[in-house]
Amino acid sequence: MTNSVPVIEIRDLHKSYGSLEVLKGVDITAPAGHVVSLIGSSGSGKSTLLRCANLLEDSQQGDVIFCGEAVTWKGTGLNRRPGDHAQMIRIRTNLSMVFQQFNLWAHMTILQNVMEAPVTVLKRPKAEVEGAARAYLDKVGIGDKCDAYPAQLSGGQQQRAAIARALCMEPKALLFDEPTSALDPELEQEVIRVIKDLAAEGRTMIIVTHDMRLAADVSDHVVFLHQGRIEEQGAPDALFANPTTERLRGFLSATV
Ligand code: ADP
Ligand code: MG
Repeated sequence: MTNSVPVIEIRDLHKSYGSLEVLKGVDITAPAGHVVSLIGSSGSGKSTLLRCANLLEDSQQGDVIFCGEAVTWKGTGLNRRPGDHAQMIRIRTNLSMVFQQFNLWAHMTILQNVMEAPVTVLKRPKAEVEGAARAYLDKVGIGDKCDAYPAQLSGGQQQRAAIARALCMEPKALLFDEPTSALDPELEQEVIRVIKDLAAEGRTMIIVTHDMRLAADVSDHVVFLHQGRIEEQGAPDALFANPTTERLRGFLSATV
């Protein structure tokens, strides 16, 4: 790899909601082409961390660095905000999120859903975006659903549409927040297949998941979050085979 600058770097991030301290100094690095999985109990701060990474949430302390470019902040403490709007948009559009509940627009067709942000936010030419959108929908296996509405699709198809929508932004990294949690087991697999294909292509991804098999299969690095702190992290083989902390051992035995 010639490019050693990580796509996302988070350093000593602190995040509170009022007096509730949710992230208590978290560091995460996602090098280009790597998959980082975030695991941990409900309420440990996983979603908050992803949302802070792409600046959907403010944070009170610490750095968010995108491709070597540190976010500029204005204000301090609970008043700290990204200080440069253009930079915020650049970072947000380059870190595409895929949510547990798909979040497709119900009144738009699948093709329109995928085309919307590249056309309206990135101002890319419609014809070019349509070609790309159709190609991404083909890639995730639902090229025949372009004219359908979200409600006409299964959960697995809707999530694959949401992944195509994220890909159509041509982001530097994909952030997944429990992408399979809302799906029946038989539909989970079709989404996992797509995520594995993306990992094999060398996409940079951070994946929050409750699925330890998925984390073990696709990750270069796994981070176990406990009450807003990193309790343990490492390569998936070592981490899952030989957890060193009591908390991770307890978490893994409760999850499997
Ligand atoms: P996880 O994704 O690991 O389940 P979250 O990041 O969603 O955890 O939540 C971490 C903690 O922050 C929880 O205690 C949750 O109740 C709290 N929290 C999350 N979002 C908000 C919010 N918008 N306002 C207040 N508290 C929140
Ligand atoms: Mg969550």
